[in-house]
This record gives sequence, structure tokens and C-alpha cells, in this order.
Amino acid sequence: MRRSDAVLFTSREETDHENRTVQLIHRAGIARQLGSGLYALAPVGQRVRAKVIARVECEMDAIGGQQVTLPSLNGDDIWRQSGRWESFEGEMLTVESRDGKSLCLAPSHEEGIVSLVDGAVRSYDDLPLLLYQVTKKYRDDHARNGLVRTKEFTMKDAYSLHTSRESLAEWYDRVREAYARIFEEFDLDFAVTAAENEVMGGSGSAEFHALVETGSERVRYCRADGCRFGVTDDSPRGSLSAGDSCPDCGNDLAAGNGIELGHVFKLGTRYSEAMGLTVDAPDGTEQAVVMGSYGIGIERLVQALVAQHADGDGCRWPDGVAPFEVAIVPLSYEGDVREAADRLYEACDPDETLLFDDAGQHIGERFAESDLLGVPWKVVLGNHFSATGEVELESRDGETRYVAVDEVADIVG
Ligand SMILES: [Zn+2]
Repeated sequence: MRRSDAVLFTSREETDHENRTVQLIHRAGIARQLGSGLYALAPVGQRVRAKVIARVECEMDAIGGQQVTLPSLNGDDIWRQSGRWESFEGEMLTVESRDGKSLCLAPSHEEGIVSLVDGAVRSYDDLPLLLYQVTKKYRDDHARNGLVRTKEFTMKDAYSLHTSRESLAEWYDRVREAYARIFEEFDLDFAVTAAENEVMGGSGSAEFHALVETGSERVRYCRADGCRFGVTDDSPRGSLSAGDSCPDCGNDLAAGNGIELGHVFKLGTRYSEAMGLTVDAPDGTEQAVVMGSYGIGIERLVQALVAQHADGDGCRWPDGVAPFEVAIVPLSYEGDVREAADRLYEACDPDETLLFDDAGQHIGERFAESDLLGVPWKVVLGNHFSATGEVELESRDGETRYVAVDEVADIVG
């Protein structure tokens, strides 16, 4: 994209948002707050969000997930059936339709998934099944910490359906491992905390927390390599504190803040029994479907990436997530330099390249903006280029080398 065409919403001004991560999210043009708990993603944020979602979808597809889209508007009937119309009261946003029916903006989709498969999935033979979607959720929660807690947010939510608890256990582990792979691919430092109902009747639940200073939840976690043990105040072993031994490996626990990225849940027959979801068993009887549910919050994942990877100059991103992969930075966009910059722009993927062609920006501003956005590569066409024909290729971490114009696309591609 040409910088002269791009609407980037970047800003060099300090903001007064609640912490430096949320400030950077605004300054880098990722998102803008429109009201309490209401955020718009700007073009830069939208590009990052799309790449994050693609990565998550890829991992879900790889473990056998099939994508669906459930409506965000749900009738009250299915929520009354599950018994959650009342229990979600206070956090649920409700509306009335023109014919006087009560609807909610779904805060979660267990009821929706049961409605989707009810009558279509009939035999034990049709299971197990893993369905997932990437849709908006709505919760009238107390907004805090930028994209971490908003009233409208995107979730990748998945639901597994089974004929037995053994099958659920197998798929729960499969999704849990996929989640760990996703967060590892994003180079995130995270802990896995057992959540409250793990102690109750064989069902299980775990949360994934990115460890960041600007997180809103208190986490005690193990620092040993490869050990992801963690607890929150709500965990079964929530009284563990910094300095205590890790129950998994014996290393010392540390204390810090976290952003909850994801949650995996063994639901058992909680929803199928309440809503009458059954399949025919091999012996001809009807049996309640055993379920699991699994979620990853997309925008809060973006915020965790910003929080963990940023430096004093702006955003940094794990591979494949930056809003643009390459910035072409000419000292001045004219003459031979302009010609070479245009040639480079065509040779690299123009959709992933930001060509600083805007005459209104001087070179220092171009460098600063590229770093603020976290573009992994800068190709600088300056005095060295004019003298030798070689461009300066600089990584986001400041490593520099000189290469021929024709070599650039191969190196940054
Ligand atoms: Zn440990």
C-alpha cells in the first residue's frame, strides 16, 4: 500500500488511556475507543486481527474443526431452556423484537450450538464432532483495560459433541494442546491455570493467561522452562503465592499480572440434558450428548501481543502478524530513488508493503512510523543507495545489512 493512500490513524501524541499498552494501541492506530467498552478497529488493527484469526482457524481446522456461524441474536426460548436467561441477567444485553419477542445479543453460544445440531445429528455414528466459529459476543460487563474487557468482542468459540466422557476427555486434550500451540506460535509467554470446576465431579476447565505487566488478573506462575503451571485467585490451589514450590516441577512460583486469552471447558451433559439434545445409542436407547466448549478472545489476544512484544519505539509482532511485512523508506521520493522504490514495491507483495511515498513526511517521521506500526523490515534508499546502488535493509530490531535491490524481495518474502 502506498503511504499516500493509507489511512493509518497513527499518532505521535501521548494519550491518557489507562496503561501504556492501551496507549500504544491508540498511538499505533490499531483501535480507537468510541465509548465505555466500545472499540473500533482501525485499518491497522483490522489487518492484524485478520492474520490472527487466520492462524487460529488454521489450527482449529488441523484438529478436525468445522466452521459454522451462529446468529448473535438469540430468542429467549433457548436460554430459558438451558436455565441461563436468568443466571446471565445483569451481563446479558436484551432487546425486544417488533412482535414483542425477547431476544438477547448472545454472550456465549452453547445454546446456539445445541439448537443448530438438534434434529440434524441423530446417531452415535455422527459423533464426535468439533464445530467452531469466529463471531461477536456481547456482555454488559464493566469495561476495563482497552481491548481486554469490552461489551462487544470477537471470540473464536468451539464446541465438541460426544457419546462418552472418554471421547470428551480425548478431544478436550486435543483442543487444549492446539491452544498451547497457537499461543506458542505467537511467541507468547503464558501460563495454564486450572479453573474452578476442575475439582467438581470429574469435569475440567482450564484458562490460558498471557503474562503481562498491564494485565488485569493476578496470576502466580512457574518460571521453569516448558512448565506452564499457574493459578489465579479462583483456581483450586489459588492460595499458592510467590516463592511457593510449583506442584508440577518444584521450581519457585512468581507472581504477576495476566490477560486471559482462552478457556477450555468440559461441560458434560449440562446443556444437552437441559435442552433435550440426544442421539441414538448403539443399543437403540437415547442418550444425552456429552459436550465441551472452548474459547479464544481475539481482540484481547491482539492486546496481549502488543503488551508482550512492544518496545520503546512501538509495536513488534511475531512472524506473520504485523500489519505490513515491509516498509520501503526513500530519503526523498524522486528521480532514481523513486524509480528504484517503485520497482521494489512491485517486486515485494504490494499488499504487505508500505511504500513511504508521501511528500509531507520527512525521513525521521517515516522511520518512526514504521517502527510504531512494528513493520518487521525497513528498506532504506538513502545516500548509500545513491552512491552504490545497494539498499540498506534494517530489521525491526535494528540489524542492518546492505543488499542489491533485486535481492530484497527474496530476503523479506
Ligand atoms: Zn513448574
